[in-house]
Amino acid sequence: MNKDSRIFVAGSHGLVGSALVRQLRSRGYVNLLLPEKRELDLANQQAVADFFASQKPDYVFLAAAKVGGIHANNTYPADFIYINLMIQNNVIHHAWLNGVKRMLFLGSSCIYPKHAPQPMKEEHLLTGPLEPTNEPYAIAKIAGIKMCESYNRQYGTKFVAVMPTNLYGPGDNFHPENSHVLPALIRRFHDARRQNASSVVVWGSGTPRRELLYVDDMAAGCLYVMELTDDQLASELLSYPKPCFVNLGTGHDVTIRELAETVRNVVGFSGDLVFDTSKPDGTPRKLQDVSRMHGLGWRHRVELEEGIRRTYQWYVENVVG
Ligand code: GDP
Repeated sequence: MNKDSRIFVAGSHGLVGSALVRQLRSRGYVNLLLPEKRELDLANQQAVADFFASQKPDYVFLAAAKVGGIHANNTYPADFIYINLMIQNNVIHHAWLNGVKRMLFLGSSCIYPKHAPQPMKEEHLLTGPLEPTNEPYAIAKIAGIKMCESYNRQYGTKFVAVMPTNLYGPGDNFHPENSHVLPALIRRFHDARRQNASSVVVWGSGTPRRELLYVDDMAAGCLYVMELTDDQLASELLSYPKPCFVNLGTGHDVTIRELAETVRNVVGFSGDLVFDTSKPDGTPRKLQDVSRMHGLGWRHRVELEEGIRRTYQWYVENVVG
């Protein structure tokens, strides 16, 4: 990518896209195409076709998706599969039709089987049944990977993908029910401290393990992949049947109980944790094997407690007001 390349960030106003934009700007990329949802509905095929034909992006980051936590995925399964398939079909196909030089598709670690060996490697894709609570979302993401791979095979495109682990950071969704675990806990602990509550409810048993990646680290990893040389890209990510995607994580995980205790400390709440086992645990563990990304020369920088501090500060300054 050149500093004046035309770079389209699809989903530039979400948690992931806004981190990508921060990262691109800080690295001197100036020609960013960042249409808002009301200007470009990515689920609308004609609108996407018109956008690509008129704007002719050189590079695409496909970070637009309908996302949510365990409850949202369980409650709106049709939306999660339909909207995600529509967005990615439209963007990937028109990226090819318009000669995009490289595209990076953002997937998720939930593409791996529920009982995949831990840590999960890229080659574990499609080796077993998925976690039911987010299967429709995962199926859409798997279809996105296979689309990138198929276009590369048939048309010689350079469409690659990253599978970030659970992401968090500034710009997250702090909705009490529909968000992911970390923002939900930040909000709940913050409210509990303000109200002098004696305890905070944590969903599930507290024993599932999750790996979390600070979103600015994710953005740095995405740029790292997009900036690989042609030779590196060809030998590492474009030599089918080698996977055209790479895990993006820290390689470390914590239990939900440990995560809740860390949030409690950061927020400064002194009450108890109460586990609500009527809520689903989801997949027992999803720790990524990040050796492929390490082999490419990239590793994360922001450790969990530091990332939670930054996210809490952002929450206090931007959401609580
Ligand atoms: P997942 O990683 O796809 O399962 O998505 P989540 O981030 O929604 O949930 C991760 C884990 O955190 C699950 O085991 C949840 O039961 C647990 N959890 C604990 N408290 C909460 C909460 O308040 N909200 C959410 N979304 N999950 C919670």
